[in-house]
Amino acid sequence: MSLRDLRAEDSSSHEHDLIVIGSGPAGLVLATELMGTGLKVAVLESGGEEADERSNALNDFQSIGQRRAHHDEVRCRGFGGSSAMWTGRCGMLDAIDFHHRPWLPRSGWPIEPRALRQFYHRAGAYLGLAATLDDSQAAQSLFDADDSPPWDTALFSNEVWQYSNGENEGGSLIRQLAAADVTEASGIGILQHSGRTKAVNFAERLRQPLLQSSDIDIFLHATAMEIETRPDGRTARSVLVARPDGTTVRFHARTIILACGGIENARLLLASRSANPKGLGNDADQVGRYLTDHHFTEIGRFEGPKGAMVRRRLGSRWHADADTRTIYQMGIRSSPAIQRERGLLNATIHMTEFGGQPNALSTLASAVRGAKARDKDGFLSSLSSTAKRPRNLLAAANDRLIHHRPPLNSPELTLLGCVVEQELDPDSRVTLSEESNWLGQPMAKLDWRLSDLEYRTAQAVAGDFHAELQRLGHDMPARPDWLTSGQEAWAAQLLDLAHPSCTTRMSDDPASGVVDANCKIHGIDGLYVAGSSVFSTPGHMNPTHTIVSLSIRLADHLKGKIVDNKDATAAQAKPPSRIRIGFIGGGHRVANIYAPIMKALENRFEVAGIATKTAAGADRIAAETGWPAGTDIAALAGQEGIDFLVAALPSASIDETYPGLIDLGLPLFLETPFCWSEIKGRQLLQKIDKAGLLVGVAEQFPFMPEAQLQRKIIELGLIGPVNAVMNDFCAYDYHGIGLLRTLIGRERRAINANGRQARIGDEDWLLGSIGLEDGGLIAHNYSARYRQSDARPAGDIRIYGDRGTIMSDKMIFGDAATAPAGSNVIRNEDAGDLAGLSVETPDGIINWHNPFHGSGLNDEQIAVAELLVRMGDSARYQAPAPYSASSALEDVELLAAMRYSADAGGGSLGLPFSPVTQKVRRKARQVSTRLLRRNRP
Ligand SMILES: Cc1cc2nc3c(=O)[nH]c(=O)nc-3n(C[C@H](O)[C@H](O)[C@H](O)COP(=O)(O)OP(=O)(O)OC[C@H]3O[C@@H](n4cnc5c(N)ncnc54)[C@H](O)[C@@H]3O)c2cc1C
Repeated sequence: MSLRDLRAEDSSSHEHDLIVIGSGPAGLVLATELMGTGLKVAVLESGGEEADERSNALNDFQSIGQRRAHHDEVRCRGFGGSSAMWTGRCGMLDAIDFHHRPWLPRSGWPIEPRALRQFYHRAGAYLGLAATLDDSQAAQSLFDADDSPPWDTALFSNEVWQYSNGENEGGSLIRQLAAADVTEASGIGILQHSGRTKAVNFAERLRQPLLQSSDIDIFLHATAMEIETRPDGRTARSVLVARPDGTTVRFHARTIILACGGIENARLLLASRSANPKGLGNDADQVGRYLTDHHFTEIGRFEGPKGAMVRRRLGSRWHADADTRTIYQMGIRSSPAIQRERGLLNATIHMTEFGGQPNALSTLASAVRGAKARDKDGFLSSLSSTAKRPRNLLAAANDRLIHHRPPLNSPELTLLGCVVEQELDPDSRVTLSEESNWLGQPMAKLDWRLSDLEYRTAQAVAGDFHAELQRLGHDMPARPDWLTSGQEAWAAQLLDLAHPSCTTRMSDDPASGVVDANCKIHGIDGLYVAGSSVFSTPGHMNPTHTIVSLSIRLADHLKGKIVDNKDATAAQAKPPSRIRIGFIGGGHRVANIYAPIMKALENRFEVAGIATKTAAGADRIAAETGWPAGTDIAALAGQEGIDFLVAALPSASIDETYPGLIDLGLPLFLETPFCWSEIKGRQLLQKIDKAGLLVGVAEQFPFMPEAQLQRKIIELGLIGPVNAVMNDFCAYDYHGIGLLRTLIGRERRAINANGRQARIGDEDWLLGSIGLEDGGLIAHNYSARYRQSDARPAGDIRIYGDRGTIMSDKMIFGDAATAPAGSNVIRNEDAGDLAGLSVETPDGIINWHNPFHGSGLNDEQIAVAELLVRMGDSARYQAPAPYSASSALEDVELLAAMRYSADAGGGSLGLPFSPVTQKVRRKARQVSTRLLRRNRP
């Protein structure tokens, strides 16, 4: 890369393959992803190495709508864009954000959440994040005793954020202000955050990798004034760029990508009027409309260190990821079911602490750091702060050393607030002002609007939250005035949070958006947009994680296009490399499941080899599959570039063989069950944890097409909160439990188990149930012989929600009050090849599309293929395992608990359950019974 100052260049034109306008997170990530493709890329940045007042003045705007923060506080014109001052709060959009919600006009995205999943994980590396967990995974692995009893799942779902971790002092401005004046801080919307001291500054983070590329040129002080097209007005051709002295340069390329931020992307298109006086891509008058942002509504506050329980629940958590400890921030959001029931927007609640002191253990650590750095003042002030608070020191040590959780701080003020997703309003918009900036460009005119529904949502969320705190017996926070003084008072305190979005929104229909699902501007070839302006809906989540994910996705798309386009000047772009797998074991599972998957998906997977027990077995498999086969597992594992090993060993041997596989030191994908003996399983899990190894389990039932559609229906709240799930003689023991727990939500804690055994003819039935802490119920009925008998009806999985029931082939929506209607699940097949499943719901037809359609895989193979693809993401991009070893062990433990209960005659067994304790208890009972009998008169 060369970092060039356009002021020092006198050429009047430049030629590149691709131009990226803007060097914020969206633009720099795109350029980085395009490195090594052979494409000559120019990044045009309006500002200099760092933002300065004169450059920033180009961001100035005229506001005629809801009050907005000064441009200096919410945007930076300089290398790295606004990442020079952002706070780094990151998270994913929710599934419901992507869905068309009938009660919200223009809701929904033209892509499925699944289309972004891999990119969220890949984005994590740029943002300095640990594994991106979905809400259920987060709740499962981060919950602790303070989360008991849980939030009412009918009202709230879990939400989780992380903080970007970089090397610079990003976000320090916010903390400085917050420390200086907590009242002012609480009044300014953008000061809601608190988090890591160092958020990633993209210029700093990506400067080195970009410098190493000879294909990327970054031009500073290069302000794009207009995007130009060929005379047809339909093909992007060049960018007219101004130096600060007003002289201009023309940059030519076949592909141009706008990455100027949520307001500037729209402004630049509107200002590009040579071909069309309405602006480029604006035939349907959509550019600049639907301006949304986020606003922060206070719903309660604690003065001083009150509200400890609430602060714990909504505070941060440590999560051990291999050898690193990362911080996740907990929160809650309105459940999809309640949004649907009341016709509300998506909204989240989180907490921010201001002022005050960190806990005394942290100040002690600061004192030690001060001593080491010979910083006398720092040492003395930290030591004195520690010494004055002996009780806090003890409490913090107890938290950290005994409970392994972050100690509580002593804030001066804790704000509890909600961020409500904004409703899409075409009149909330960016247009061009009559006024111009110092470069002669028309300024942006912002008519930002709030809606009644946003107010109603904030009211409802605040009401539910206070009711929940009361029910849970927590301290009640002081309520803000707006709750009683009405909508105007609510709106008066709101400011934008520096997240302008949706102004070039993504839509399949050019009449309701500007870009298509690939971020290309409708009707204009070679012109793309990156950044939050393409969001179809803003959701409640901070945008940058999604922005970066979409940039990576766009880069992949462009690489694909270049490979296909033989005319392109640079055709060296390589497709992403295939996932390389080694197999251990060569039985029927490999022959019937894995081999067909590998054959059907050979463009995505590559088999490094297979190791079996015998040479004869190896020869047979080599002949059947053409894979390199042998008997030496270590030699297989020692090969270069293996992403993970699949262990498909005879099930009777797993307890003996799995532990040895951990020593191979490669990520593992183990066939289910994870173990037969809970004790062996626990030892294995300990070994995995100690080795810090990625291990996934091939539990395919939750990933079967049917289950994926069911999960989607549940996730969208279409049957209300799920209260019970039942395996009615349908799925074998551990498969059944795995599926039921996934459907009801693995994060919901099990507190007791019951089991009964019944002998019906030659069948041994196990009738088991698991009670959940929140009142939910898992019913598991199974017998191995049941399914073999023609005398028994087909088994089924049933999911019971407040407002509907899901069965394998049918769903019923509605409750007693709303005339329930049944709807069959339709299999859409293409000459026996599953294209997808669909079901008619109150929201219209909901589809599940088979991502492997065209490959001829059957349902079980589709499920395993899905797991393998996700395992590939886990191995490469630090995604959590699709089905973790600890989840699989819990399944085995729950089954064991039901069996112990059945053996003991059916009593309720408290969970978590230890078989060792149970055995000791049973032995003790037997001994005492015997003693009693013996002593009977
Ligand atoms: C104080 C603050 C705190 C924030 N906290 C968070 C947070 O916690 N979490 C979160 O997700 N987000 C947060 N954000 C928002 C985050 O910074 C943005 O989402 C992100 O920077 C957007 O990336 P971008 O590349 O799309 O745009 P930007 O970062 O705005 O970059 C756009 C770039 O384009 C350049 N440019 C503009 N016009 C032109 C032109 N005509 N020609 C050439 N170059 C041009 C600009 O100079 C800039 O460098 C925060 C923002 C601020 C200001």
